[in-house]
Amino acid sequence: MGLTVKAVECRDCGDIVYSRTQQDFRECTCGNVSVDGGLSYFKYNVAPSANFEVKKIQIDANLNELYDDWNDMNDEFGLIETKEDLPQTVINVGSLNV
Ligand SMILES: [Zn+2]
Repeated sequence: MGLTVKAVECRDCGDIVYSRTQQDFRECTCGNVSVDGGLSYFKYNVAPSANFEVKKIQIDANLNELYDDWNDMNDEFGLIETKEDLPQTVINVGSLNV
C-alpha cells in the first residue's frame, strides 16, 4: 500500500517534487518549481516562465516513512528525477484541478 500525494511535475527539467512534511520545502533540479506544506497543507510555487503540471501521484511509502526520510535527511523521497530513474514506484493517477 502506498500513498497518494499531490505533486508538481516540472516540464523544464523533468523532475516531480512533493512535500513530505509540513516543514519540508523541496524544489526541482532547475529550481523553477518548489513545494511546501506537507501532504495536508500542500502548496507550490513556480517561476513565471515555468512549464509545469500539478498532479496526484502514488508513492511507495507511508506517512511515517516520509517523516523519517525528511527528519533523517535521507532524501529518498520527495524528489523524483524522471530522467535518471524511471519512476516505477510512481503511477500517475490523473491531473488535479486547481
Ligand atoms: Zn525543474
